[in-house]
Amino acid sequence: MQHYGVAPRRRTVTVDVGGVKIGSAHPVVVQSMTNTDTADVQATVAQIKQLADAGSEIVRITVNNDEAAQAVPAIVRKLRADGYTTPIVGDFHYNGHLLLTRYPECAEALDKYRINPGNVGTKRQDENFRTIIEQAIKYGKPVRIGVNWGSLDQQLLTEMMDENARSADPQPARTVMILAMIESALRSARFAEECGLGHDRIVISAKVSAVQDLVEVYQRLAKECDYPLHLGLTEAGMGMKGIVASTAGLAILLQQGIGDTIRVSLTPSPGGDRTEEVQVAQQILQSLGLRSFMPQVTSCPGCGRTTSTYFQELADRVQQYLREQMPVWRTAYPGVEDLHVAVMGCVVNGPGESKHADIGISLPGTFEEPVAPVFVDGALYTTLRGDHIFEEFKQILDEYVARRYGGAGSARPTPSDDRQPARAE
Ligand code: SF4
Repeated sequence: MQHYGVAPRRRTVTVDVGGVKIGSAHPVVVQSMTNTDTADVQATVAQIKQLADAGSEIVRITVNNDEAAQAVPAIVRKLRADGYTTPIVGDFHYNGHLLLTRYPECAEALDKYRINPGNVGTKRQDENFRTIIEQAIKYGKPVRIGVNWGSLDQQLLTEMMDENARSADPQPARTVMILAMIESALRSARFAEECGLGHDRIVISAKVSAVQDLVEVYQRLAKECDYPLHLGLTEAGMGMKGIVASTAGLAILLQQGIGDTIRVSLTPSPGGDRTEEVQVAQQILQSLGLRSFMPQVTSCPGCGRTTSTYFQELADRVQQYLREQMPVWRTAYPGVEDLHVAVMGCVVNGPGESKHADIGISLPGTFEEPVAPVFVDGALYTTLRGDHIFEEFKQILDEYVARRYGGAGSARPTPSDDRQPARAE
């Protein structure tokens, strides 16, 4: 896929996480995290499957206590037995050194350990950190050194703040905080390597909750190392705020070639769909032209020319139909994720935009003749009218997908006898 104006990816080593490669030689990886109680094997397996089905290529689970650590092997066994190969990452805070040594089956079953250098224990941090690294070496697992501004190593921050106060040219506190996050991550990575962990076994993240801070911390981090970077805005928030803030921050960095795996940390509404974070992550990458996951629907915003809701309903049904088809289409029709569909509200921009899509429909606006021209590969193909426009458009879409991506030759479908193509005017 063409990368348009995106800068070349920053060069990194490649880290293998349970068969999924993270690094500049590979596509940016989408990952997500469960919010179930890990000790509840059934619920956690079910949610991992949902996330994986939605397209999450790596899934992280919290391993916060003995019960969670004991559940991990059963979770991974069940997933593998059911055909899910998605790598599973354990998220450890405070007691990772204890859990990984106490439960070797857990250490073995996980595909990566996430360590927060600010949370490895208030005392004897180096010793606890070393213990986790030793388990990673013993079981051949990579780690993510995940610094978070909310749990930054306070001792390090205090030292750097004091040093800054003594300097002739003190930096703003925000800058010192950013520098402390980078120092914490890189110092921990150096220490991990000194303990014997391979250079290509380390992924770094430095998450903050403000977009401008995120951009600055990763831009600086990117210059200082060649470890793959895991991008994400921490505590991004709920709904539209979380989606927009995450998109703003991640898009700036990805456009600059920074970032090798992403997670969108949305707060789901109560009972909400956890897979939304996966869909948003995919859409960010696809909108930037970095990866393709599913056919894209271009639809106009509508205006005073579209006074009925029919146009919005059709755009929504087409989008929904494409999403529902993808689990089957992905396998049956390789390349279909690059399909471009347009659903437009009236004749002003409808025919033009539809012609630029692989397949497009332009609906009648208010007071326009109640006909809907359909364009295939830039040419008027037929004109639909009546009460079954969606069903007929869906059929044209199915035929197009089968012909273009099913290896059966021409992309342009042959109209059936009862649906003659309209004359191009
Ligand atoms: S294509 Fe037509 S309905 Fe859609 S925004 Fe433009 S003028 Fe309005």
